[in-house]
Amino acid sequence: MGTARHMVTRPSRRGRRADAGPPAVPEPDSGDRWGHAVVIGAGFTGLLAARVLAGRFARVTLLERDRLAPGTTHRSGLPQGRHPHGLLARGAAIVEELFPGIRAELAGRGAPVFDFGAGFATRLPHGWAPRGALGVEVQSLDLTTLESALCDRIRAEPAVRIRDGFLAQALELSADRSRAVAVTGRDRDDPGHTPVRIDADLIVDATGRASRLPGWLAAAGLPRPQRRRVASPLVYSSRMYELPNHAAPEWLVSFEMTFPPLVRRGGAAVTVDRGHRLVSVIAPAGELPPPRAEAALREFAGTLHNPHFAHVMEHGRPVTPVYRCPVGGNQWIRYHRLRRFPDRLLVLGDAFCAFNPVYGQGLTVAALQAHLLGLLLRRADDPAGVARRFQRQAARIVLFPWLTATAADQGWSRTGPGPALSCVRAFLHLVVRRVPGDPALYAEFARVQNMLASPLRLLRPSLLIRLLRPRGTAAAGAPPGLDEAAGHSPG
Ligand SMILES: Cc1cc2nc3c(=O)[nH]c(=O)nc-3n(C[C@H](O)[C@H](O)[C@H](O)COP(=O)(O)OP(=O)(O)OC[C@H]3O[C@@H](n4cnc5c(N)ncnc54)[C@H](O)[C@@H]3O)c2cc1C
Repeated sequence: MGTARHMVTRPSRRGRRADAGPPAVPEPDSGDRWGHAVVIGAGFTGLLAARVLAGRFARVTLLERDRLAPGTTHRSGLPQGRHPHGLLARGAAIVEELFPGIRAELAGRGAPVFDFGAGFATRLPHGWAPRGALGVEVQSLDLTTLESALCDRIRAEPAVRIRDGFLAQALELSADRSRAVAVTGRDRDDPGHTPVRIDADLIVDATGRASRLPGWLAAAGLPRPQRRRVASPLVYSSRMYELPNHAAPEWLVSFEMTFPPLVRRGGAAVTVDRGHRLVSVIAPAGELPPPRAEAALREFAGTLHNPHFAHVMEHGRPVTPVYRCPVGGNQWIRYHRLRRFPDRLLVLGDAFCAFNPVYGQGLTVAALQAHLLGLLLRRADDPAGVARRFQRQAARIVLFPWLTATAADQGWSRTGPGPALSCVRAFLHLVVRRVPGDPALYAEFARVQNMLASPLRLLRPSLLIRLLRPRGTAAAGAPPGLDEAAGHSPG
């Protein structure tokens, strides 16, 4: 979850509300529907892809390895569901567009809707982001609850069949290997391991970071795509707390941004409903206390610049164990660069490009990809060629989030970034250094951060002049709601 800098496929106008969003993806006439689409993976990305495909295909089958019980339940294929998530304003607007009324439904379950500038308390490397309404509407929520609600909606789609407990194991291509034609796998409960073949006119891989598609392509005699990786040693250590009303803070989401090597530790606290806060401390694995050591965890939280995590730990009652999750770094599999890639096959979400989650980008980038897929399907007369167009344009969606996340994470590397990433990194540092003392800059930054405006907005000459004007570092300020505890800046 976090404070990162982002791209958007289309810059939005200043002052436009976050929930205005891009135009809806309309349903085509039902007479116009194509054959059968298969989505592998019923995580956030797979659910959005299924929704979009159901507007175009007569049948959509959503394959999921886990059993998907109705209601909000944690499952092994969603380990990140135990950890705080921020859905950026642009991502939330797309989800609302695809699933009308979902925001109100989640609000009914307790997930607060609020102005980003007013409800977010953000500790940047050199001080606190200014507070005050920005006209950017967000909702803080629990990922497992969000996905359960989306899954209930998908279950109600007449065109979609969810086949859970199904493990996809390979891809079948046409004889000339020019297009994907089927997914093969097995029902996990079948003791005989009988192979099952599912024919499809379009196949979507939404199996997340653990996608086995590069190996499936190689097994079919096609080249393996190149994989770019930028590592991060960070691990989330998270726990849910029940917080009594009298200790309820004035912020709804509180965050401390890492910026290695300057800031190696951070954290996040998210209000999932009025009574519960999901709190995480984030640090390199070797620096975190063991999961069972509650006192040590609180002590560790006390070493951060943001006092809000320790506040919840001190006043709240833990209602879950401590869960740990390594962030897994950044990984971009460059399918769009393959000269031979089968038609009728698409890769979305973490399976295509996964980010260090402290920058809060994964869900919104996946939502932008689902939205793009909807637009391409709407414009196409048949599924042929959609895959290549999609993969190329999806790479453009990924580019800026990738640059910003990896420019920051190069700070973990001993070798340091190359010249291009060095420039991005220096610019980022300049912006986050100036934000605490400059509310107008923060208003721009927050729109970029929420992917409502292109990062190129920050390069406007008027803003550049302001950024480059010599000025001392602004005072770090006091943490919102805890005025007595003066903020401290590391530099
Ligand atoms: C600790 C943590 C915190 C995060 N915080 C944020 C945040 O604040 N904001 C944000 O935007 N993002 C955040 N992220 C990233 C975000 O969680 C991911 O980008 C997003 O959930 C990816 O969704 P996905 O559907 O692409 O993949 P996944 O959620 O991994 O879903 C893949 C699905 O495919 C299924 N599957 C896998 N293999 C098979 C198979 N062979 N056959 C059938 N099914 C299969 C899995 O069971 C799973 O259900 C965070 C991630 C982590 C780890």
